[in-house]
Amino acid sequence: MLKRYLLAPGPTPVPPEVLLAMARPMFHHRAPEFDQVFAEVRDGLKWLFQTKNNVLILAASGTGGMEGSISTFLSPGDHALTINGGKFGERWAKLCKTFCIDVTEIKVEWGRAIDPQLVADALKKDPSIKAVYVQASETSTGVSHDIKALAAIVKPYSDTILVVDAITALGVFDIKTDEWGLDVVITGSQKALMLPPGLAFVSVSPKAWKLADQAKNTAFYFNFKKEHENQLKNQTAYTPAVSLIIGLQEVLKMMKAEGLDGVFGRQAMLAKAMREGLQAAGLTLFAKESPSDALTAVLAPEGVDGQAIYKNLRVQYGITAAGGQDHLKGKIFRLSHMGYMDRFDIIIAVAAVEMVLKGMGHPVKLGSGVAKAQEILLA
Ligand SMILES: *Cc1c(COP(=O)(O)O)cnc(C)c1O
Repeated sequence: MLKRYLLAPGPTPVPPEVLLAMARPMFHHRAPEFDQVFAEVRDGLKWLFQTKNNVLILAASGTGGMEGSISTFLSPGDHALTINGGKFGERWAKLCKTFCIDVTEIKVEWGRAIDPQLVADALKKDPSIKAVYVQASETSTGVSHDIKALAAIVKPYSDTILVVDAITALGVFDIKTDEWGLDVVITGSQKALMLPPGLAFVSVSPKAWKLADQAKNTAFYFNFKKEHENQLKNQTAYTPAVSLIIGLQEVLKMMKAEGLDGVFGRQAMLAKAMREGLQAAGLTLFAKESPSDALTAVLAPEGVDGQAIYKNLRVQYGITAAGGQDHLKGKIFRLSHMGYMDRFDIIIAVAAVEMVLKGMGHPVKLGSGVAKAQEILLA
């Protein structure tokens, strides 16, 4: 028997309470029962997003939230600025091109965070840019971008919105939607929100709705205006993912019981223990600055194949991590610590990495990383 541990940056483990809640018999989404659940989760999402804005709930993966954040607010020929610091940043420009948006892309070296000054310069050069697209946490590299600083730069432009893919940030570290002035914030169910895949969540500011009113709205399903009108009445335009929404109700209860500061504090502690533990085992982090508290990307040691580390974790020890993408394939591996994670998930991960490396003939002192992680995780 091999016990399975899910330490990939999505999907992440789902708490048993949530699985049980989702097992209840199906009910109809036009019945009053649904309206009550929907009203409660909409309220809870406002708390989680730290916003007064309506937070839309869509039956889609996270990319659906990203796609709608282009098709709802921009029209063909509009100008957009995208920040590409990895695989998910790259997706913004691909999506823009799909909708015939005239896109300027700022490329950031993988492993580094955007220098906000570059965004300030780009907006000065082309004030017709209607939207700036960025990740709060770039999951392919394990780096977080400074969203607060970017928001301060975009805010004075009255016709330009900031769209934040917070899919591995929201529920991990502080994202102050209203206080910082974030126009559109997106997350998904299968990362920090401890749910199976299938839901996307999007908060939209009044400034962004103004833009949507002027746009041609080139989409049908991913038309946020239509969803907004319906969801204000606790209904969805089309059939919602009822079971996942019931799971969300349970997740929000758990998160509220811990409190936002409690969640962020735990996530920060786990991230620190993972980073310092792996470094104490002799490894080097891939992030050269601003490592994300959601996951840790690690360089494979010289002469060791990163894909083999990732594969051995799964085959020998039952641990699903993630490898590197594109030019990082074989060079890095990634371990998640977001969502339903606690101290011993970190101990398991660090111990297993040491054991895999040892098994591959790499000189590693067993327990060196674990001891460091234990120090940080002591209650
Ligand atoms: C997971 C993820 C997405 C969305 O991916 P889906 O597979 O569509 O859910 C987008 N951005 C980031 C940063 C992610 O981590």
